[in-house]
Amino acid sequence: MREYSHKADVCVVGGGISGMCAAVAAARHGAKTILINDRPVLGGNASSEIRMWLCGAHGLNMRETGMIEELCLENDYRNPESNFSIWDSVLYEFAKFQPNLEVFLNCSVNDAKMKDGKVASVRGWQGTAETWHTFEAEIFMDCSGDSVLSTLTGADYRVGREARAEFGEDIEPEVADRKTMGMSCLIQARETNHKVTYIPPKWARVFETDEQLANRGHGFKGTNNFWWMELGGEDDSIHDTEKLRDELLAIAFGVWDHVKNRGDHGADNWQLDWVGFLPGKRESRRYLGPYILTQNDVRAEGRFDDLIAYGGWTMDDHNPAGFRYPGQPTIFHPAPSPYGIPYRCLYSRNVPNLMFAGRNVSVTHAALSSTRVMCTCGTMGQAAGTAAAIAIREKCLPAGVYENYIAELRQTLADDDSYLPWYTRKISEICCTASLTASEGDPEPLRNGIDRPVKNGDGWDDNSWSCQPGGYVQYDFGKTVKLSEARIVFDSDLNRRGKGDAATNIEKNILSNFPLNQPPRTVPPTIVKAFRIEALLEDGEWHTVAREDNNYQRLVRVPLDCVANAVRLVPETTWGADVCRLFAFEVK
Ligand SMILES: Cc1cc2nc3c(=O)[nH]c(=O)nc-3n(C[C@H](O)[C@H](O)[C@H](O)COP(=O)(O)OP(=O)(O)OC[C@H]3O[C@@H](n4cnc5c(N)ncnc54)[C@H](O)[C@@H]3O)c2cc1C
Repeated sequence: MREYSHKADVCVVGGGISGMCAAVAAARHGAKTILINDRPVLGGNASSEIRMWLCGAHGLNMRETGMIEELCLENDYRNPESNFSIWDSVLYEFAKFQPNLEVFLNCSVNDAKMKDGKVASVRGWQGTAETWHTFEAEIFMDCSGDSVLSTLTGADYRVGREARAEFGEDIEPEVADRKTMGMSCLIQARETNHKVTYIPPKWARVFETDEQLANRGHGFKGTNNFWWMELGGEDDSIHDTEKLRDELLAIAFGVWDHVKNRGDHGADNWQLDWVGFLPGKRESRRYLGPYILTQNDVRAEGRFDDLIAYGGWTMDDHNPAGFRYPGQPTIFHPAPSPYGIPYRCLYSRNVPNLMFAGRNVSVTHAALSSTRVMCTCGTMGQAAGTAAAIAIREKCLPAGVYENYIAELRQTLADDDSYLPWYTRKISEICCTASLTASEGDPEPLRNGIDRPVKNGDGWDDNSWSCQPGGYVQYDFGKTVKLSEARIVFDSDLNRRGKGDAATNIEKNILSNFPLNQPPRTVPPTIVKAFRIEALLEDGEWHTVAREDNNYQRLVRVPLDCVANAVRLVPETTWGADVCRLFAFEVK
């Protein structure tokens, strides 16, 4: 068999949402990076192979920004019909065409070599090409979900639920056990304009009555999500996967048989569109870092000095018996939104060059029941990748970033539009000292370092400035200044709702089923589509130094190359809104 060797600064194993954000962040911040994924598509549980939609923090103005929003807005622009292959292509392109990043697909990492207590290399088998690959790097990051590098490197990890007394977590059992949340094979359905029959396979489970599916919402409404077809929490959620998959498939086809053939569930015109043959996993090994985030940290809002990401999903703790448990399949224990997640949960406490992001970070089972949702995982990935790039630049270990560069890490994340609650981004010196004026309204929020509405007592600090199309906001420096970049944060409507039947929910990146006449997904109308930047140059005249006619992103960085006395931004059109709303305009 062929053998190839590769060298990079950072090597990320696992290309789910966490691993992708980690790898792209490391690459964007200057580290030569490798991303290895054992499947042909990226996205892990969000990919077309598993089909979970992205969820994140609950509540008004809590939508995750940074890379997660970048991906969602690209998808809004390109994927009007919520087509899974188009979503796959958005994820593929995000990583594959990122300078500084090399992506290895269909490559399964199954070995690691250690040197002086650190990971020296990992090895993967790429079956499609009958090739072994060895990857050497300074920093390794395990974003494989199941933590494949844990047993291969000797990194400390845990499986199962903590005893209530260990961290004082009142939602945990009295006695610790190895039980976890389970895995699922999802199904999706498509509405047609005619009656569709369904004949189940002989090996499908039979659910004659609604009572057999008690507490499992299946009165078909077109927005159903069959997440509750879940097994494995009382088994070994790694080594029993194949056996559990067979059982989950029998349940999946049996549930659809029940919906179609055993009582009226409103699904006459619906056809089975897709069944996932690759189980999506919720929980297995969790690494141990210098800090273990607990239920009580979540409840106390996690206001850590090294807060680098936030959560806000409830502690959604599934019963380990899953589908075998006849009662409610999960308990939604309340959690504040937001709560902070510290950087110290993202690197190993005993293998110094090993980091992680995703569902395998250093949290208790109780905290995981909230941190596991994919927007939260993605923001942790962005933080881990950014930290890895700083560590590479400074020739230090991940722990060194905590000791010496945590302020830089937080500022860089905020600058990249990754929201850090209770943090105010520092503004460039030239913008702080310039005079700021506008065609209308008070533009000061554009340089206040907070790029979204934030709760203040019973009300909200809006942190935005708006103008009519063609209005402007202007910095006068009182001297000539060399400008290299403008940073703009437009309004992507963090509270945007789904369309059609999904309109009661916050908009997701994809649908759970496909109704007829579903209104198309669109770019949020609030985003400024066309804008120009003008500068007052040394000749005493205003010149257009940059123009964009088709923007659909929230965070926009515009390269500039001029020496100016003043600069202004002129928003020209939106994707539908009457006014142009911004959260930041800054130059440096
Ligand atoms: C049925 C179900 C429903 C859920 N519902 C939601 C929901 O509605 N919204 C939400 O946000 N979250 C949901 N979750 C939780 C969420 O999907 C996971 O917590 C999340 O995907 C974890 O992200 P991750 O990047 O850590 O892992 P994953 O998404 O699992 O990604 C891991 C990646 O690593 C790859 N990999 C694994 N081993 C190797 C290896 N040895 N070599 C190379 N690559 C490897 C995998 O192929 C995969 O691409 C759900 C989970 C399940 C199972």
